[in-house]
Amino acid sequence: MTKSEFGACIKKARNAQKIWAALPYGQRERRLKKAGTYLAAHVEELRETVCRDTGKLPLDALAAEILPAIMALDYYRQKGRAFLAPRRIRGGNPLMFNKRSRMVYEPYGVVGIISPWNYPFAIPFSEIVMALLAGNAVVFKISSRSLRVGRALEAMFAAADLPQGLFTYVEMAGRDAGPAFIGSPGAPGPGTPGVDKLFFTGSTATGRELMTLAAPRLLPLVLELGGADAAIVRADADVDRAAAGIAWAAFSNAGQSCGGVQRIIVHQDLYEVFLEKFCALVRGLRRGIDLGPMSTLAQKQEVRRQVERCLRMGARIAAKSGEAFFQEEKTTEAPAVVLRDVKFGMPIMEEEVFGPVAGVIPAADDEEALGIANNSCYGLTASIWSRNRRRARSLAGRINAGVVMINDHLMSHGLAETPWGGFGNSGLGRSHGEPGFKEMVKARVIVDDILPGVKRDIFWYPYSEEVFTGIRAIVDMVSGKAGQRIAAIPRVLRVFFRYWKK
Ligand code: NAP
Repeated sequence: MTKSEFGACIKKARNAQKIWAALPYGQRERRLKKAGTYLAAHVEELRETVCRDTGKLPLDALAAEILPAIMALDYYRQKGRAFLAPRRIRGGNPLMFNKRSRMVYEPYGVVGIISPWNYPFAIPFSEIVMALLAGNAVVFKISSRSLRVGRALEAMFAAADLPQGLFTYVEMAGRDAGPAFIGSPGAPGPGTPGVDKLFFTGSTATGRELMTLAAPRLLPLVLELGGADAAIVRADADVDRAAAGIAWAAFSNAGQSCGGVQRIIVHQDLYEVFLEKFCALVRGLRRGIDLGPMSTLAQKQEVRRQVERCLRMGARIAAKSGEAFFQEEKTTEAPAVVLRDVKFGMPIMEEEVFGPVAGVIPAADDEEALGIANNSCYGLTASIWSRNRRRARSLAGRINAGVVMINDHLMSHGLAETPWGGFGNSGLGRSHGEPGFKEMVKARVIVDDILPGVKRDIFWYPYSEEVFTGIRAIVDMVSGKAGQRIAAIPRVLRVFFRYWKK
């Protein structure tokens, strides 16, 4: 899509959005139900498309892409009306006792969605659904590595019978997408060629670039970025469960999950036992059944370089799933790799390693484990593995991550109702759940009087000694001791009638 074609599609989207936002929620929701009907009728075809674009295993595609999308559509369709309903806010200031505030929500207008290749279906699907239910138009670009999935999503939303131009699927190179979606710098407000809010999921480097581009327009962004998740295994953990759960969270989707486990921090008393069980599981992973290929050769080579740097810095391979260590250069097959003797400074501790690699690190106690976990510029998700759930919950509150799971990891991305998003270099804003839905709307506050016939607020001009004394009395009433509060009442009453004075 050229720049001028992109400008034209934003214009169309802006016109269509006005019609769409004016429809009652029920009508919008019914149109999106049609996309759900299409999805239900094409499950196998869509799953295959996801597998063809990404190399994902059928089970990964079904469990982590198709099923979460079906559940998300149901959830947002049912809850959207309540999320968009105006909220009353109780007043607290006695000087303004006559006021009531209400929050009302309105769509941004045209929402831009740029999504990655690792979960090419489920990630943009939920965002598109939320944006449309909230009354926005959508311009959507998927990664150039997953265009078949993009076209499948286009066909699905075409089945929803949306107003012409409301949903536009665009294909363009990533490097052109920033300026196109964000529009001309220095031209704020509606009518600019860019979108009104941008939802980006991808690498931290691209997220940072988009934020810089967005700054001149102060364009609001949601950034769902990279991670290097920690799993803390306490001495009291169920070691079999921990090893099995962490193996799945580290290596499913060939380790290409933003919220996959990368750093496994194990209490020293359990370290060797855990490592033995974990390594046995990893050696037993079956290529093509448990462990799929990586999505691209370039990604595999990047991960291989990161592992080699770790090895040069002193890390050792504790186990891998198969004989070859990234040997087959012409295929995207890559083994699952477990590293031990890892230290700060190594890529596995400092960078996102976006592939099937995890490092295991011993820790003397909870404090040391937390220190290691939190020593990262990322803060996407994390997990605590322990039989003591009270202690686990307390540690969860001290981990620098947007989502912390207890005795599990990664799975919460499949829960539409559970917010998702990170701290630090892992991004800004939330997707999923009510907070994710609310990212699709602007909150406006409307403040109004309760009592009829009021002529003025007591603090309006002209100022006078009487007004000052009255407001002083109100301060005494809310902050003074019991005697002061009672003594303040007559002074408050004197000024109170000013509301009705012309
Ligand atoms: P990426 O290279 O940043 O690309 C993501 C998307 O942005 C693609 O559609 C890409 O298009 C586009 N893009 C690339 N450069 C751009 C630019 N300069 N301006 C605007 N758009 C641009 O990331 P990726 O390699 O696809 O995805 C993997 C990353 O995503 C990992 O870091 C992973 O952790 C993160 N991720 C995060 C979450 C989360 O929820 N936090 C979820 C999934 C993935 P092209 O493909 O056409 O270049």
